[in-house]
Amino acid sequence: MPTTGYAERQYGGVTVLVGGELGAYPYANSVLVRGTAETLVIDPSLSLVGTAPPADLVLVSHAHEDHVAGLAEYEVPVRIHEKDLAALRSREIMVEGYGLPSDATEHTHAMLRDHFHVRDRPDATGFEDGTVFDLGGRTVTVVHLPGHTAGHSGFLIEPDGFLFVADIDLTSFGPYYGDVGSSLTDFEASLRRCRDFGVRWYGTAHQKGVIEGAGEFARRLDDFVEVVEKRDATLLAFLDEPRTVEEIAEHRLVYRPHIQGPHVEPVERRTAVQHLDRLIDAGLVTEVEQGRFRAT
Ligand SMILES: [Zn+2]
Repeated sequence: MPTTGYAERQYGGVTVLVGGELGAYPYANSVLVRGTAETLVIDPSLSLVGTAPPADLVLVSHAHEDHVAGLAEYEVPVRIHEKDLAALRSREIMVEGYGLPSDATEHTHAMLRDHFHVRDRPDATGFEDGTVFDLGGRTVTVVHLPGHTAGHSGFLIEPDGFLFVADIDLTSFGPYYGDVGSSLTDFEASLRRCRDFGVRWYGTAHQKGVIEGAGEFARRLDDFVEVVEKRDATLLAFLDEPRTVEEIAEHRLVYRPHIQGPHVEPVERRTAVQHLDRLIDAGLVTEVEQGRFRAT
């Protein structure tokens, strides 16, 4: 059974609510931002269930269950990027975004409902890049960082100089762009964008926690980006003879061999297609016959 409860860590006027297991999935890190007039919470996680601090407003970085598992605690306005809005309003649409085989959909639906307390939030409204929330003496500005999901967003908190980068989470797993609405191209642009902020603190939603200093953040970002390059290299090596997308998915670019589940094949397939596309664009791979690809 998951435990609840979080640890508070202070970064200037920003409070990070470190979730269970340092915020590793199924947990996550939430952020509490207090101004003189209003308080908001970002990404209420599973660890806030039963212990959620009061807030006037909830912001959600993107519509994945680990970022909204504590949302049912809040009967206040909730905002998310307009491109993830439909998935927050409807759990059914959230599940569709995972693009699972139809026989796995019901199980996922039940898991989101029972373990992550995800319920429809038809009252949720959208924000866009650059939307500013003025809490009184402290602002939170939306920084759209798409790729992980289409609406995935970070939040710049000033004057503290804290950028919440959510699921640009810097873990060794690397960037995840395996949903139906994910985009590797957008993810890479988002990684470039958040590199240029030059703030004091960078808060991730998971176990890498908060990184201090732009230099250290850039180094961690390099390692994170390198995972994408390794996936390219793995794919190129595998394409020493013609292969289908199905064979690439089976070979795997994302998950280690012991990982099983209905999500593995579709995520591997969508990831493989995106890597194939960019290697073809770069002239490193060619479609030698219908549906079979080979390194040039
Ligand atoms: Zn996510």
